[in-house]
Amino acid sequence: MPETNYTPPNESPPAQIHPVLKGQKALVTGASKGLGQAVAIGFGQAGADVLVNYYTDEDGARQTAKSIEECGGKAQLFKADVAREDDVRAMFRRMIEVFGRIDICVPNSGIQLNARVDEMTLAQWQRVIDVNLTGMFLCAREAIRAFKKQGIDRSVSYAMGKLIFMSSVHDIIPWEGHANYAAAKGGIMLLMKSIAQEVAHLRVRVNAISPGAIRTPMNVEKLTSPEVFERALLKLIPAKRIGEPEDVARAVVWLASDESDYVNGATIYIDGGMTLYPGFIGAG
Ligand code: NAD
Repeated sequence: MPETNYTPPNESPPAQIHPVLKGQKALVTGASKGLGQAVAIGFGQAGADVLVNYYTDEDGARQTAKSIEECGGKAQLFKADVAREDDVRAMFRRMIEVFGRIDICVPNSGIQLNARVDEMTLAQWQRVIDVNLTGMFLCAREAIRAFKKQGIDRSVSYAMGKLIFMSSVHDIIPWEGHANYAAAKGGIMLLMKSIAQEVAHLRVRVNAISPGAIRTPMNVEKLTSPEVFERALLKLIPAKRIGEPEDVARAVVWLASDESDYVNGATIYIDGGMTLYPGFIGAG
């Protein structure tokens, strides 16, 4: 039995993804780096073809596409700002032109523009809400429209479609200095549940993933400063390791597959226990 102050090694199990998505067509937003990139590659490893959306980082998106193609899948790049209705509609048109249908949609793009509330500009508030919440709605709406139009193809899935929102532990953990981000993530929770309730009878499954602290470009600052990483961040994680993008990708692949066919309107927290009130550890 480890001592109470035992620190486990900071490592995650190797990725072993099985081809549970063979023949499926997936769209992932913000797939040029970080979690979106890992999810898109996870889909490729699981046998899906993927539309790789990016906003500014075309090189990153090309890397994602290359990894998917190395797994034998097809990849299509598409530049779009998820906050713009015209861009999102054009992206879904391209998805259907290229792949003929859409089985899985992962609205993942997200940004942070941090400021304390009395210093937050309307532009900082609005852009975060536009990308992190309105962008999710725009993608969800186009995905549901496409799912309804195409119907169920039992040769690829028992579901008419799967929609998986990338949320955050900050859909339930308040975050000072990040009110715009937390408001958007909290909004995703009831956006997801309301849509899930609306379309479950069609066999469209709608769920969310809420990651804790994961090693992505969004967290570079926190991870490269030992001070912040060891003294502050690890204190918030009972599992005592930062998450890897593959920890998240594996769960998204499962949620996108028929293995999770009876899962509707759920949020899966992938956070090493961050939502377990770690401040109570050792508090008697
Ligand atoms: P990241 O900064 O590494 O990647 C964000 C992605 O979103 C990039 O591909 C970027 O190009 C894209 N993007 C930004 N603005 C866009 C726009 N207007 N239109 C289209 N794409 C746009 O961040 P990440 O850590 O990979 O985060 C991905 C998602 O996961 C976000 O929704 C984030 O809130 C969420 N999340 C991340 C963590 C974490 O620890 N990394 C934790 C919880 C939730």
